[in-house]
Amino acid sequence: MSLRRVSSVLGLVLLAAAPSALGQAAGPGRSGDIATAYRAPADSLIRAAIADSSAYRRLGRLVDTFGPRLSGTASLEAAIDWILDAMKADGLENVRGEPVMVPRWVRGAESAELVKPRAAKLAMLGLGGSVATPKAGITARVLVVSSLEELTRRAAEAKGKIVLFDVPLTDYPVTRRVRTEGPSAAARVGAVACLIRSVASASIRSPHTGLTVYDSTAAKVPAAALSVEDAMMLHRFQDRGEPVVVTLRMSARSLPDAPSRNVVAEIVGREKPDEVVVLGGHIDSWDVGQGAMDDGGGSVAAWEAVRLIHRLGLRPRRTVRVVLWTNEENGGKGAQAYRDAHAADLARHVLAMESDNGAFNPKGYVLAGSDSAAAVVQQVAGLMQPINATGVQRVDGSPAADITALGQAGVATMEIDTEGSRYFWYHHSDGDTLDKLDPAELARCVAAMAVMAYVVADLPDALPHSAPVSESP
Ligand SMILES: [Zn+2]
Repeated sequence: MSLRRVSSVLGLVLLAAAPSALGQAAGPGRSGDIATAYRAPADSLIRAAIADSSAYRRLGRLVDTFGPRLSGTASLEAAIDWILDAMKADGLENVRGEPVMVPRWVRGAESAELVKPRAAKLAMLGLGGSVATPKAGITARVLVVSSLEELTRRAAEAKGKIVLFDVPLTDYPVTRRVRTEGPSAAARVGAVACLIRSVASASIRSPHTGLTVYDSTAAKVPAAALSVEDAMMLHRFQDRGEPVVVTLRMSARSLPDAPSRNVVAEIVGREKPDEVVVLGGHIDSWDVGQGAMDDGGGSVAAWEAVRLIHRLGLRPRRTVRVVLWTNEENGGKGAQAYRDAHAADLARHVLAMESDNGAFNPKGYVLAGSDSAAAVVQQVAGLMQPINATGVQRVDGSPAADITALGQAGVATMEIDTEGSRYFWYHHSDGDTLDKLDPAELARCVAAMAVMAYVVADLPDALPHSAPVSESP
């Protein structure tokens, strides 16, 4: 999952301060001239990152061997074991799995069939967290609506029907509401099941899953995503006045919480080991495809960044800590567990960075933090000129889900700003496989994370905290 918007720049402000002003804001004379002080190690990190395809090979090994990694599955835990062993072999320090209890949802067999006006199989994926249908399935007339608001207007027509939300993806946090809130909205007006149009920006009839969240005040009705093409076809039938009947069969169930782990490894700081720069991704994924883009790529980019800092013999003043959070997709329990386990030292976290927008070509960084933190980050980003990834965009709330709690504690939070045009082609679908990422682009993400993490961890002054910030919408 990602918190970022598709292509909208709403809420984003391009930082445009002059370098001289930035130097002053960073603290006169103390952080000094970052460009001069860190040019050499930054160039070394960039050169080493882009010299080969080791990150891509490692990601391939991860996703081909273990496949998708839904919370509560043996494949997720086996992947975590493999990563912990590999991190120890890399020579990283304090390698450990920090325990987390995670929800366990099992998809089971599922299907959707068009009964009227003609018999046809529909391309579907149940939504994460959905309940099952009765064994025989649910066969009902379909009411297609174009928005949550339209359902409210047409509430009287929904009773006993399957409601289909045919809502195109515009802005992810906005469109995602249909997936999270649609099933309960449909139940409240008497619908027996809920379908949504997949949240996708392009489709070759691929259904895209994702989490739905039942409101405790409404009945729980089964919920699934149809491919964009199928949702549009059903809408056309309705527009022509042809009654649409669908049979939905789902056997999904929720089981008791299961043990999982956040993967943690460090390079311990040489002067201020208690001050920490965190970088990571989420190691869990949905149960389709390989979770290569979301978020195997981000996880491996962060891991490789730390491995690279270690391999070049760089030991920054502060500790650099890679964290691969578990259960981002259907619970966020990994992020909560990290916050709770480290509650006493959140004040000594100086930066939290995540890559969860697909490890595509990096353009720079998205930052939520104070003006003074932004001024420093802008200078560090300038070191990425060799691969043209110097941009710094500012947002108000945390740019990535797993670091939201850290941002709320005042820690500067950051996401790698990657070229996002293909992200929602593959997101949460069977198409999320290794081949969708590019070795050279992934290597540049490694460089972007390594340079930012190393320099911020090594600066004489800690990156300033801000007043606690709120979660993005
Ligand atoms: Zn994700």
